Amino acid sequence: MNKKILIVEDNPQNMRLTEMVLSAESYTLLEATNGEEALEVAKEECPDLIIMDVQLPKMSGLEVTRKLREIPEFSRTPIIAITAYAMKGDKEKALDAGCNAYLSKPISARDLPNLIAKMLLQRQEEGQG
Ligand code: MN
Repeated sequence: MNKKILIVEDNPQNMRLTEMVLSAESYTLLEATNGEEALEVAKEECPDLIIMDVQLPKMSGLEVTRKLREIPEFSRTPIIAITAYAMKGDKEKALDAGCNAYLSKPISARDLPNLIAKMLLQRQEEGQG
């Protein structure tokens, strides 16, 4: 079965770009444009990996990540934080919130798929428990 990837991104152009970058891979792509929706889709679809925009309206991507980590099902789901304004300390904040990796925009058509493949493999090797 194809791995499910949830893309959380409020900007339609960035959403399309991320989907384009991943279109060559055989993933099932799910979308959420805000934090509430991200939590709903995650609970319904149980994605294998989540790409999390940090700058979201109302609830930030880091808040969404903290909430997800409180749910046992998502305690170990790989989460990649993506931010538009790479500032000193952002990476630490993202990792503190429970993200596993951090990338700054613009997303790289090579780095993002590589990172996703690596994280899915790692997760698989750890076992699903
Ligand atoms: Mn955003």
